[in-house]
Amino acid sequence: VIGYYNGRFVDPAEGVVPIEERGHEFGDGVYEVIRVYAGRPFLLEWHIERLLNSLSAVRIASPHDALGYKELIQTAIAKSGEREASVYLQVTRGAALRNHLFPEGEIAPAVSLVVRPVTTHPSACVGTLLAQADERWANVYIKTINLLPNILAKQTAHDAGADEALLVRDGYMLEAASSNLWFVRDGALITAPTDRYILPGITRRFVLDLAADLQIPVYEQKLPYTQLARVEGMFLTGTTTEIFPIGEVITHPHCPIEATLPSVAPHPLAVEPEGCTRIW
Ligand code: PMP
Repeated sequence: VIGYYNGRFVDPAEGVVPIEERGHEFGDGVYEVIRVYAGRPFLLEWHIERLLNSLSAVRIASPHDALGYKELIQTAIAKSGEREASVYLQVTRGAALRNHLFPEGEIAPAVSLVVRPVTTHPSACVGTLLAQADERWANVYIKTINLLPNILAKQTAHDAGADEALLVRDGYMLEAASSNLWFVRDGALITAPTDRYILPGITRRFVLDLAADLQIPVYEQKLPYTQLARVEGMFLTGTTTEIFPIGEVITHPHCPIEATLPSVAPHPLAVEPEGCTRIW
């Protein structure tokens, strides 16, 4: 395990972030998670390309170019000595007096990183999804560190005994809380298109390449929730999730697909597994 903050390798538990760092106070930053296999970062160029896209989308001037990030990540992996690991890399707008407006003048963006060992999950796993309304904002293509809706959706799924959330927006099944969503139907794969309503997953992009090599047809289309019954298979993709087959989808009365809860109702944070209904 190794940490890094603004030019210095540190113990990740060390208190190095100033209180008025904008990532800490506002969630004003973006991130990447990169998987390391046998000591080598997987699909690193694609991750760095997406990081640079996220930075320009939130108007943070990148403190490094692609080569700079590559060198930083490779140095950190080497220093950590880890072989099977994940790299968490975060760039925020930096530290300044708290004000919603961007700080005046030049402030240095803050770069932090943690390399941690990961355990590979057994390939025999088959997961469960809890269908829920997608309550995230409308620019989820940006990999921002503001993950509260994702956290609540995944915790709610966990409370119901499921592994992940199946997020439904305007009647379409778009994504999970921390992974992309795929369907299998009539020998083809279906996954949501990369508009502003999903994160353009690096593993998703890799699976698109694999499907092309294997001549498996892919439809990048939004699938209506009402068509779930017609699907023959489902799986998730993500950097640490890898390719994760799904065996069932459940619902819970506290988690309506359309957000129709009265505004005064508490958020359905905790759901009882007994109240769940299997729908796929
Ligand atoms: N969607 C969301 C919301 C995510 O947070 C992630 C990353 N964990 C993914 C999809 C998968 O993206 P990637 O394959 O780049 O890890």
